Amino acid sequence: MSQQHDTAQFTGALADAAALSRSAEIDLAAVRHNVATLAEQVAPAKTMVVVKADAYGHGALPVALAAQAAGAEMIGTAHLAEALKLRAEGLQGDLIGWLHTPDAPFEEAVAADVQIGVSGWELPAITAAARKHGTTAKVHLKVDTGLGRNGCSLLDWPDLLAQAAAAVREGTIEVVGVFSHLAVSEDLTHPATPAQLANFEQALREVEDAGLNPRYRHIANSAAAIAWPQARYDLVRVGLSSYGLSPFADKTPADLGLIPAMTLRSRVANVKRVPTGTGVSYGWRYHTHEGSTLALIPMGYADGIPRPATAGPVQINGTTYHSVGTVAMDQFALDLAEHPDAPEIRIGDEAVLFGPEPAPSATEWADAAGTINYEVVTRIMPRTPRRYRNAEFRVTLPGAAATTALATRLARLLTAGDGVILSGELGAGKTTFTQGLATGMGIHAAITSPTFVLARHHENPTGAPLVHVDAYRLADAAELWDIDLDQSAPDAVTVVEWGRGKAEELFESWLDIELVRTVGATTDTTDFSDEDVDEPRELIIRPHGPRFAGYAALQALHQVTLGPDHHPQRTSAVSAAPTMKAEA
Ligand SMILES: *Cc1c(COP(=O)(O)O)cnc(C)c1O
Repeated sequence: MSQQHDTAQFTGALADAAALSRSAEIDLAAVRHNVATLAEQVAPAKTMVVVKADAYGHGALPVALAAQAAGAEMIGTAHLAEALKLRAEGLQGDLIGWLHTPDAPFEEAVAADVQIGVSGWELPAITAAARKHGTTAKVHLKVDTGLGRNGCSLLDWPDLLAQAAAAVREGTIEVVGVFSHLAVSEDLTHPATPAQLANFEQALREVEDAGLNPRYRHIANSAAAIAWPQARYDLVRVGLSSYGLSPFADKTPADLGLIPAMTLRSRVANVKRVPTGTGVSYGWRYHTHEGSTLALIPMGYADGIPRPATAGPVQINGTTYHSVGTVAMDQFALDLAEHPDAPEIRIGDEAVLFGPEPAPSATEWADAAGTINYEVVTRIMPRTPRRYRNAEFRVTLPGAAATTALATRLARLLTAGDGVILSGELGAGKTTFTQGLATGMGIHAAITSPTFVLARHHENPTGAPLVHVDAYRLADAAELWDIDLDQSAPDAVTVVEWGRGKAEELFESWLDIELVRTVGATTDTTDFSDEDVDEPRELIIRPHGPRFAGYAALQALHQVTLGPDHHPQRTSAVSAAPTMKAEA
């Protein structure tokens, strides 16, 4: 995996400075939209979302969580180590890895309930691991129907099936799936796909003959899931399309109802007029014309911009320019004479390399470099911080005690200046939640609803004070200013009940937290006691702002939702010390 995610800390300053000069912003709402769109399209087949290679550069855990929230049945990786990292980060649900060498962590995978793709030679190691752990390994048998890469040869398939059937009888494996992979699915006229599907049918007949009855038969990647309905079987494995990119040369993401999830941004690092005939960048592969002005983009092949790219698009202030000269390790140039009538460009202006429309696309960069869009997003290097938008964590809590406990865990992630905007019907448990936050912050005062006083300040001998506000009767943000919340917010953790649409301006970073009573919600709007009825509720956390935009923050928030039985790595996220390590 290319990225190192520091789970120990997430904080602002330096990481944000890096994010200003270049960032890959991942819109998790786009991922959820894409996965839901694909899942609906392939139903009744189920959907596996493939998050190998750190989710094609998008970040495996946030993408896997978004995919599950949007209805993904299973999460797929290439290597078992990738799947095990997700388990260690607290990802639950069905998870599979399918590409191994003899030193692969089969035992750990079996112990962590990670399903294993089996091409043949791995089976003895997997049955041994299952015996050792006294459990049944879940495997998917892979047959090579014509890709010529991994998977069991059709010649050896009956043999593998016999071994698998014996292991099933022994109780060491369960054959959950049978699968294959296509070679040319993006070309609807190529004979490879019909030939591979015919081979797959033959392989499936042999599976049946061997007495095996797998729940999932799967062969389709993104292109086949979309364009070859007969390839959907019980499950499709979508990677590229979940990220909002099109596998087809003649179809845009919009044509497929998909939204590109990654926006790659930078800022103009220099602008200068130069003499006619100036050679630009290594090798002088471009010379300027009369009236040329060069603009410098501080991203290069060390950031994942392909060195062979010529005329890669960059949008600045709404105008798209194309790169000139060689892409270097850290930078490349644009000649602004390409659009002499466009508005003036200044040092520091935002430059968008690719993203959703109207930005240029990752596919245009792929074309400029003679590669495919898969490679463009996957190779964005760790020097470019990932920033996440529209993350959403939903957790069902059995009652008041679990609400308090979650809030107590969450408090450890908060620091002075953070806001919590709390919404939910009367009786949904907002006061219970705030009591938990106070406890987690080390404040032992009893928390009562601030309805009649608007705001209560709770001093904290060990850290930031808690300011607890009820904005129900306040009309707008101005009235929050009237009670001086803008004065106290930078030095406190501020909880604003009924604050949505009013309190956001108080904070740079905040958590929007919604409590939804699943049963027995009170409709008595005259009862302001907000007495918590000890019943199940759903809690939705939506992080906003730079402090909660990094991978480590999302990882920490996910662990908060997992409950006390999980033992997440300790976080010192409340530290305000800026750290470069906070960023991937
Ligand atoms: C990467 C991969 C996929 C996903 O392919 P996309 O074209 O990105 O949808 C599916 N199956 C296997 C075996 C893969 O390795």
